[in-house]
Amino acid sequence: MVQQMRVKCILLAMVMLVTLVGTLACQKNTGTNNNRQKSIVVTYSILGSVVKELVGDKAKVSISVPNGLDPHEWAPSAKEIEAINKADLVIQNGLGLESGLEKTLKAARDRGVKFFTASDYITVRRVGSGEGIPSGDQDQAAGAEDPHLWTDPMAMKNIVSALASQLKSDLGIDVDAQSQDLQVRLDNLNQEISNEVESLPPDNRNLVTGHESMGYFAQRYGFKLIGAIIPGVSTQAEVSAADLAELKKLIEDNHVKAIFAELGTSTAVAKAIGEETGAKVIELTTHGLPKDGSYFSFERNLARTIIDGLR
Ligand SMILES: [Zn+2]
Repeated sequence: MVQQMRVKCILLAMVMLVTLVGTLACQKNTGTNNNRQKSIVVTYSILGSVVKELVGDKAKVSISVPNGLDPHEWAPSAKEIEAINKADLVIQNGLGLESGLEKTLKAARDRGVKFFTASDYITVRRVGSGEGIPSGDQDQAAGAEDPHLWTDPMAMKNIVSALASQLKSDLGIDVDAQSQDLQVRLDNLNQEISNEVESLPPDNRNLVTGHESMGYFAQRYGFKLIGAIIPGVSTQAEVSAADLAELKKLIEDNHVKAIFAELGTSTAVAKAIGEETGAKVIELTTHGLPKDGSYFSFERNLARTIIDGLR
């Protein structure tokens, strides 16, 4: 009896040893740890929310620019640079949104880190002539590429579909079922917002925002971009007295009901314009997720705040 148990123990120990040696040999062969969960870094939170829904627990998803901070201005810490360099895949917006991260992202790409650039899979909007207000800054001129693609759920749908393909080819992660589900939900979200916009008189569909951040939304749902307090697509452009005078005139001429102050908007400037023109000043979250962390809640809040504000 005792001898039988001893034989069993020796056999068990041998099996464990063989398994261990086998595992180590495998790791040495591939040069990477296959048991390690793949790591995906997304540059900002709104795109990150959709990526998390797509990937679920099939990879570890982390976000570079903390939610609520300005992706146009944020610069990474040493720890964040390391996370980007070690990622199995970096997912970025592109079109200059991550200007503070640009050097880090380029260095990672040069080191061979794999990238997915969301704006490669959408029809890129350019700032139209007569949009916004005249500005001396060349970067903000008509024709500049607009990075704010997340305000259009149909752009997000294209991105989900393209990303699902790349996750499979680059990381061997199959998210086809999640991708189908997400795309249906994005279609439904789009339909829901279209229906809500229908209730708003066409003459009221005029947008004045803190910066030129609502172009894709306006294009999708038939709003007119009247102007921005900071002319241009980033939050860093300068604003002049002449620009503001021009904007006030546009607000009055177009009977704009509300000005939407957002990330990076000077509240004092927005308030002054509101008082002089009679337009309400309403806070609009355009660059950050709500408490529940959901893109769907973000987009619904965005649409409802605009529709209610302009009614
Ligand atoms: Zn912006």
